[in-house]
Amino acid sequence: MNIRLFKPSFGDEELQNIKEAMDRSWVGLGPNVNEFEKQWAKFVGCKIAIGVNSATAALHLALAAFKFPEGSKVLVPSLTFSSTASAALYNRLIPVFVDSDPVTLGMDLNDMKRKYTDDVVAVMPVHFAGHPVPMEELMPWAEEKGLAVIEDCAHTAGAIYKGKVLGTWGDIGCYSFEEKKLMTTGDGGMMVTNQPELFKDVKAMRWVGIDKDNWKTAQAYTDANKDALHWFYELNVLGYKYNMNDLAAAIGLAQLKKLPKFNARRAEIIRMYLDGIKDIDGIEPLVPFEPENYCYQMFGIRAEKRDDLMIYLKSKGIATGCHYTPLSLQPLFKPYAKDCEFIEKEVDTFITLPLHAELTDEELSYILKYLNKF
Ligand SMILES: *Cc1c(COP(=O)(O)O)cnc(C)c1O
Repeated sequence: MNIRLFKPSFGDEELQNIKEAMDRSWVGLGPNVNEFEKQWAKFVGCKIAIGVNSATAALHLALAAFKFPEGSKVLVPSLTFSSTASAALYNRLIPVFVDSDPVTLGMDLNDMKRKYTDDVVAVMPVHFAGHPVPMEELMPWAEEKGLAVIEDCAHTAGAIYKGKVLGTWGDIGCYSFEEKKLMTTGDGGMMVTNQPELFKDVKAMRWVGIDKDNWKTAQAYTDANKDALHWFYELNVLGYKYNMNDLAAAIGLAQLKKLPKFNARRAEIIRMYLDGIKDIDGIEPLVPFEPENYCYQMFGIRAEKRDDLMIYLKSKGIATGCHYTPLSLQPLFKPYAKDCEFIEKEVDTFITLPLHAELTDEELSYILKYLNKF
């Protein structure tokens, strides 16, 4: 047995879409990206979606969209992937690390309120593993303090929490299509908002500063003589090379159609995991999984003898991981680290177990058998 932790699922539909893009001989930023953006906006129920080449880029541009003064502070969970906090550093902002809620492992809202100071400008909740941060409580507080809210939705895709899709509660939501996520484009990401004015410059920022839909000073002469100036472009903002391309979008369009099926299979697997570990002493589910209500990018447990169990599972050909080393413990972020006592200790019990849409019932029984045996 050799059971992978994560694994993307592809079929003929992806190949067919890629072939069509190649037959069109258009593989850069083009019609597939536009179509994928339109479909994603409809899928999550928001006004605008912008496709980029990663969630890391999405998080960078999401903060950049607000043009915060250099040195302002951003509340970020310690338990997340590097990109959430790197986004603050890219923008010359200061990450302030927030501890995790002991049950959900999302941002501990009490610790978040404790660490708030007058120079905080934004908060970046991460729906950890896919489990929702209580946005109905976070949003009114953020509004009262005048903070921007950027949701890191790398672990969720389409889940509805209290009537609203995760990613549409805050000002901007950022999704990931990296190969380990709920659906993939190889690498890719999407940013969404219901405030179009927030994205006024983002299209140009994701494509080297050029946004042909948004010429400004040129408008006067292009309106007068459109045909003669078809070659014209104009730089108004500092842009990055962050665009999604038509090959990635070709894959994304096929994957989006299958996403409900992927999510349903993941839910089924998580339900079987939960039933299977219920009676094993010394093992608890990582978060209070509700697979019937939300979608989850990862499944995991908290285990007393974590290291021994990981080594044992490895000897049986079962891949495991630990998500994540808290950022407040990372050398890069040491200068900004604020005490996140709970998560820095608790993380030593975490094990991520295999979860992907192609995991078979046989593989799952095999994993459960050895969890039991251990
Ligand atoms: C994967 C991940 C990202 C980054 O996504 P990319 O598309 O790989 O840049 C950001 N935040 C979290 C929580 C992630 O898991």
